[in-house]
Amino acid sequence: MKDKHFDFLILGGGLSGMQLALAIANDSFFNKYSIAVIEKDKKNRNDRNWSFWEKDHGLWDEIVFKQWDKAYFFGPNKALTFHLNNYRYKTIRSIDFYTLAKQTIESSSNIEWIEDEILEVNPPRKICKGKHTAYSANKMFDGISKSAWEHSKHPTVLQHFRGWTISSEKEVFTEDAFCMMDFRLRFEHQCSFTYILPYSSTHALVEYTFFSPETVPSQVYDQMLKNYITDQLGIEDYTIKEKEEGMIPMSTYPFHKDNQKDYLKIGTQGGWVKPSSGYSFKSTENKINKVIHNLKSNQALDKDLFKKRFLYYDRIFLRLLQEQNHRGASLFEQLYSTNSIDDIFLFLDEETTLFQEMRIMNKFEKMPFLKSLGKELMN
Ligand SMILES: Cc1cc2nc3c(=O)[nH]c(=O)nc-3n(C[C@H](O)[C@H](O)[C@H](O)COP(=O)(O)OP(=O)(O)OC[C@H]3O[C@@H](n4cnc5c(N)ncnc54)[C@H](O)[C@@H]3O)c2cc1C
Repeated sequence: MKDKHFDFLILGGGLSGMQLALAIANDSFFNKYSIAVIEKDKKNRNDRNWSFWEKDHGLWDEIVFKQWDKAYFFGPNKALTFHLNNYRYKTIRSIDFYTLAKQTIESSSNIEWIEDEILEVNPPRKICKGKHTAYSANKMFDGISKSAWEHSKHPTVLQHFRGWTISSEKEVFTEDAFCMMDFRLRFEHQCSFTYILPYSSTHALVEYTFFSPETVPSQVYDQMLKNYITDQLGIEDYTIKEKEEGMIPMSTYPFHKDNQKDYLKIGTQGGWVKPSSGYSFKSTENKINKVIHNLKSNQALDKDLFKKRFLYYDRIFLRLLQEQNHRGASLFEQLYSTNSIDDIFLFLDEETTLFQEMRIMNKFEKMPFLKSLGKELMN
């Protein structure tokens, strides 16, 4: 078996691995280092669409497929519409992101893209085995080794979903506003909703999503999508252009405990998904900025990656969703109907002050949260 050594090894060229490689490629500080990204897949398909909010302009604007400045929400009792003020909700097709990242890596003289499947990783020694090559590194960024969140006592809810990009003859979509959550069609009182990204008046991604402890049989997602499209949208004739599906852990498992000196778990397996929202595109960008800072200032790779106070809020919220899942729809209705969208985004981005957080929490019905807090304290 051949041996290859690099200064930095990035395992997995998906969202987190490619964002890290791009940040390194765009910073001349790293020109003196040898770097490799090892990925088993060709990354030449649009396997997902990433959406996120941010203020005004951002790092990815050249590949943003569509953006909105208005949103709407349907709760069990209320229909809300909101203007996003300074924020924009943006969508990127993953194929555009993969293409940009691979082109940047190809044109960089010190970063190598290696197509290989990693079969074994040894974190303390920072070595790993591929199919025909063994790799070693001074620093390893691992986006592929599974963390033990599934079997932990920490509250975990799954965000599981299936989405269809459909086109219809009829003009049914309001192109300038996306649907954050529509709880009108729920599956067995679970916290389940429809999410819609309208690309034009006849073309949209319609996604049926659950925030619940367990996945459901495959046919349930299809049935909920069909019901929503015919009953709520009133579309009889449509064509499915693209499909996507996923299962994202929303967990407060202490992912940071897997990190070691010069070995950092990144992406979903590193706990980079915001536990209470399931979003990770923008939080990955923020965490990569910190990792780059830590590398340049020779600090521990995971310094300042997690904010304890917000992990605690996430734990209480996830415990509630895990144990009283039927309350999900009304909780989100309380959140969206009593706070400004700016405050909600700021809070989910973990940028609020303690005072702002107390103000948001004060608006929720207290009893379910107190029960959940009690359970957390006993755990
Ligand atoms: C359909 C879908 C839609 C989503 N939409 C959104 C959204 O709108 N907004 C948002 O913020 N988040 C969204 N997410 C979540 C987010 O995309 C993922 O959480 C994100 O891709 C996680 O990044 P990652 O680097 O951890 O994993 P990935 O992007 O999955 O990257 C991991 C990479 O490792 C590679 N790999 C795995 N095992 C090996 C191995 N043994 N050897 C070599 N390579 C290996 C994989 O091929 C993959 O390319 C979505 C997820 C899905 C599935």
